[in-house]
Amino acid sequence: MDNAAFLGKRVIVTGGSRGIGAGIVRAFAKEGAKVAFLYRNADASAEKVSRETGSFAVRCDLGDAADAERGMREAIAALSGVDILVNNAGICKSGLIQDLSLCEWDRLVAVNLTAVFLCTRICVPEMVRQKYGRIVNISSIWGMVGASCEVGYSATKAGVIGLTKALAMELGPSGITVNCVCPGVIDTDMCASYDEKTRRELAEQTPVGRLGTPDDIADAVLYLSGDGASFVTGQVLSPNGGFTVT
Ligand code: NDP
Repeated sequence: MDNAAFLGKRVIVTGGSRGIGAGIVRAFAKEGAKVAFLYRNADASAEKVSRETGSFAVRCDLGDAADAERGMREAIAALSGVDILVNNAGICKSGLIQDLSLCEWDRLVAVNLTAVFLCTRICVPEMVRQKYGRIVNISSIWGMVGASCEVGYSATKAGVIGLTKALAMELGPSGITVNCVCPGVIDTDMCASYDEKTRRELAEQTPVGRLGTPDDIADAVLYLSGDGASFVTGQVLSPNGGFTVT
């Protein structure tokens, strides 16, 4: 892949302090992009990622509309604009539907779906003006096929897929692509509650025989953001080791 295209590109990644987002920040920084990322409260990891990559970290709660917009405006100001937006931040909440409170549902929707709308809406006018932009939204395999005990999470992630497809139609004429990455099971803090046995079983159920890594997802995001994917929009790319069939 020729990623000279990323030199000097201004990239904003939501949820860049840990896990998949940190992998995406590192990958873009390595390619010479200027990166800013948003995070909620993991100051120590955010500082580490920022120091190691020269990226700009903004603390904000993406589940709060006003704070999300404030955070995005700070990130855009720090980079003097934005070329690539990666909507990655997300939370999960497992359990039976009858045990999911309205408050927990609302929080899932706010962080996983509404924030994607808000962060994207702020970037679009500038991308339209410059007739260039790349938007990559991180959904999940559970947004594609659904998962038991993940009703709220799956619903928000399916929403991200719908948003992606509609926005791709809307922004294509402006030189902006919008795509979605649906990771399989990736070894991050989000899966920290899995015990060793469950992790082993998940790896065994995955045809390639292992859990995914943040780098596996960062590679997909770089592909969709690069010049080689300028004809790719409204698509769902699922790096999942063969775990799921649709
Ligand atoms: P992690 O829990 O490891 O990291 C989540 C990141 O999002 C952190 O940077 C966190 O900030 C940030 N974040 C969470 N809530 C907020 C908020 N309210 N405001 C601002 N930032 C917030 O998750 P992963 O890296 O595993 O997941 C990244 C994305 O990939 C998510 O959208 C997730 O749904 C998706 N995904 C993950 C899979 C997996 O198996 N891990 C599988 C499929 C999809 P802080 O560090 O400050 O808490």
